[in-house]
Amino acid sequence: MIYADIIIDISHEKLDKTFQYIVPAHLKDVVHIGSQVVIPFGKGDRAITGYVVDITDTPSFDVTKLKAIARVVTESIPIESQLITLAGWMKRHYGSTMNQALRTVIPIKKKEAAREKKKIRLLISREQAQIELNELCARKNHSVGKERLLRELIDNEVLEWDLVTKNLQISSAVIRDLEAKAIIALDFYREYRNPVAATDNYRKKVTLNDMQQSAVDKVLTDYSNQIYKTYLIHGVTGSGKTEVYMEIMDKVLAMGRQVIVLIPEIALTYQTLMRFYARFGDKVSILNSKMSPGERFDQFERAKKGEISVMIGPRSALFTPFENLGLIIIDEEHEPTYKSEVIPRYHARETAIYRAGLAKASVVLGSATPSVESYAMAENGTYELINLEKRAAGQAMAACEVVDLREELAAGNKSMLSRSLQLALKDRLEKKEQSMVFLNRRGLMGFVSCRACGSVIKCPHCDVSLHLHNDGHMRCHYCGFDTFKPTSCPDCGSKYIGTFKAGTQRLEEIIREQFPSARVLRMDADTTRGKDGHDEILASFAAGEADVLIGTQMIVKGHDFANVTLVGVIAADISLNDSDYHSGERTFQLLTQAVGRAGRGSKAGEAIIQTYQPDNYAIVASAAQDYDSFYRQEIAYRRMLHYPPAAHMLGITIASEKLEQATGQANEIKNIIDRCNTRSNVLGPADAYIGKLKDVYRKVIYVKNKDYNQLVFIKDQIEAYLLEQKQYRNTSTWFDFDPINTL
Ligand code: ADP
Ligand code: ZN
Ligand code: ZN
Repeated sequence: MIYADIIIDISHEKLDKTFQYIVPAHLKDVVHIGSQVVIPFGKGDRAITGYVVDITDTPSFDVTKLKAIARVVTESIPIESQLITLAGWMKRHYGSTMNQALRTVIPIKKKEAAREKKKIRLLISREQAQIELNELCARKNHSVGKERLLRELIDNEVLEWDLVTKNLQISSAVIRDLEAKAIIALDFYREYRNPVAATDNYRKKVTLNDMQQSAVDKVLTDYSNQIYKTYLIHGVTGSGKTEVYMEIMDKVLAMGRQVIVLIPEIALTYQTLMRFYARFGDKVSILNSKMSPGERFDQFERAKKGEISVMIGPRSALFTPFENLGLIIIDEEHEPTYKSEVIPRYHARETAIYRAGLAKASVVLGSATPSVESYAMAENGTYELINLEKRAAGQAMAACEVVDLREELAAGNKSMLSRSLQLALKDRLEKKEQSMVFLNRRGLMGFVSCRACGSVIKCPHCDVSLHLHNDGHMRCHYCGFDTFKPTSCPDCGSKYIGTFKAGTQRLEEIIREQFPSARVLRMDADTTRGKDGHDEILASFAAGEADVLIGTQMIVKGHDFANVTLVGVIAADISLNDSDYHSGERTFQLLTQAVGRAGRGSKAGEAIIQTYQPDNYAIVASAAQDYDSFYRQEIAYRRMLHYPPAAHMLGITIASEKLEQATGQANEIKNIIDRCNTRSNVLGPADAYIGKLKDVYRKVIYVKNKDYNQLVFIKDQIEAYLLEQKQYRNTSTWFDFDPINTL
C-alpha cells in the first residue's frame, strides 16, 4: 500500500498542512510527486484538486480512516505541478524536508502592508533641463550625481526612486536639492511597476560578429529542431556574451515562450539591466535580494499571468512560475553565489538543468572563467561548448607581470609594495591615469607559509593548507590531521615563517605615506558599512575623484572604469592557500577578473601580480590568460585527490552547543556511513574550518564517491537515523553535496 501527502492550497503560508490519502492500485504508476489529483474532501466528500507533495509506504494516520485519491488530472498540467516535482527532486538530491524544498520553490503570499513606492518626475521641459545641465557642467567641481540625474531625466522624464538611488547611485541630498528648486517632483504610488522603458541610449543595435553569430546559430538550430540542451559559452570578458544571450532570447520569445536570466547580484548593474530593458521593454521584470517576500510574490504573479516573459535576477529567479519556460540563461556561471547557503543547498546550475528538462527548455551558461565542474561536463559532451575567443570591440587584453616576492625580500624590500608596483603607481599618478590595488582577503587567513622560499604547510593527506589555531596547532578541516606549527621552514630552514598579516587599512597607510599627493579611496567591509557605502565609493572612483582605489575582492567584480590602466594584486597567495580544494580555481578566477579590470577603455592596461609562488599553475595561467592550461592542471589535481568533479563529495555538518553531543553524534553518523558499505572514501569527523561559531561547535564529515547515487543513499540512511534517534537531541545535522565553499 502506498500513501500520498497532498497539499490543497499551495499559496497558503503553512505549506506543511498536508492531508494523507491512499493511492489506489490502478493509479500507482501515474501518481508522482507534483501530480495534480482530485480527492474527496471534508464531510460531504466534495471533489477538490490538490497536489501530491510526498509519497510514502508508512501511513502517519489510522489507515481505516484514510480516503483514496479519485483521479489524476492529466488534461493540462499547471506550472505548480512542475515546481513541486522540482522541489521533490531537490529534496532527494540535496537533502532537506519536503517542506523546506517547497518553501524554496513556491512563493508564499505573506500578509504585509503595501509599501509606498516613489517616482521622480521632471517638472520642467527637456529643453529647460538641458540648459540646467549645461550650466551645471560649466561650473567647476559640480556635483556629478546631479549631472547624472539630469542626464537621465532628459532621456526619461519619470524615474523610479529605487533605480535612481540604488542603480544610479544618486544621494537623497541631490534629489532634495533639485526638488527644492522645483526641477523635479516626487510622486508616490502604491502598486509595483517596472522602471520605465529605457531609451535609445541603451538600444545599441550591434551587428553580431561571426563568432557571436555562429554561437547563436548553434543554439537556435537545435532549438528549432526541438533539441533542448545545455550550452557552455566560454567567452573572454568583453567578447559580447550578453549580445549573444539577447539574440537567442529574442527568438525564444518570438515563439511564445518565456526566459529566465540568472545574474549574480553583484553584476546586476544599472547598465546591464538597461540593455535588457532597451531590447525587451515591458516584458522584463527584475528580482533582487532587497525585495520583500511580498514584492517577490507580486513579480511571480505577474509572470504567471503572462504579463511579463523575461525574469532577471539572482538564483531565486530560477523558480519564476512561467507556464511555458523555453530558456534559462546563467551568466557568470562559475560564481559561488549560485550555490544556496540554506537548506536545501541547491546549485542553481544543476537545478536549472533539471527544471529545463521538465519544461523542455534549453540552458545557456556563460563565463570568461568557467567552473571546473561545467568545463568537465563540456569535455565529456554533456554540455555543448561554444567559444568566443576575442573581445567584440577589439581591445587587447592587459599585459601582465608576475612579481616574485621572495626576490623582493632577498633584495631587502620588506614593503607590501614590490619595486615594480611602486614604479607603476608613480607612473600612473604622473600620467593622471587611475590604478586599482587589490588585496584578496577571502575568509580567514590561517595558513602558514615561508617568506623566504614561499612554501606553504599543507595536509599530507588532503593537499590543502593547514589552518593555524590560537593554541599553536595546525589542523586540516577535511580529515582532522593535527600538528604543531614549526619554528622554522621545513623546506629551507628560514625563520621567516608564519601567517600572512596584511590588511587593506595598512595598505592604505603605506600608499598614502609613499605617494602623499595621491587621492586614495578604500573599499572593504569597514568602509562600506553604510547602506550605500559600496555604491558611493564606486561612483566616486568612476567620476575620477580618486587616483587609487584599494580594496578587497569587492572591487574586481562588476564595474567598468575606462581610465584604469593599472591593477596591482598585493598577494595572490592569500586565496591560493585557502584550506579548500577550490583555492586554485578561485585564485584563477579572481586574478583573471582583476587583470580584466585594466585597460577597458581606449588606453592599454597593465596588471602586476605579487606572489611567493610565481610558479604555481593558477598564477602562471591567469597571467597568461590561458584557461585551457589552468583547466588541465586543475582537473589533474581533482582527479588525483578525488575532488569534484572527478568524484562527488558529500559534506555533513553536525552542530551543537554541547561539544560531547556534537562529537557523539558525529561518531554515530560515521558508523552509519561505514555500515552503508558503499566503498566511499570517508574523511573525519574533524572540526569544521570554524570549529566553534557563536558558541556552537561544528564537526564535519566528508564522503567521496564517484557515484552520486551512493552519496544520496548514505544521506537517506542518515536522515532515517536522525528521525529515529533520541540520544543527541541537542544537535542539528545538515548536508552539502559537492560543497562549493568548505570554509
Ligand atoms: P560580455 O558579456 O562578454 O562581457 P558584452 O556583451 O557586455 O560582453 O559586450 C562587451 C562590449 O562590446 C559591449 O559594450 C557591447 O555593446 C560591445 N559589443 C558586443 N558585441 C558587439 C559587436 N558585435 N559589435 C560591436 N560591439 C559589440
Ligand atoms: Zn622556506
Ligand atoms: Zn587532511
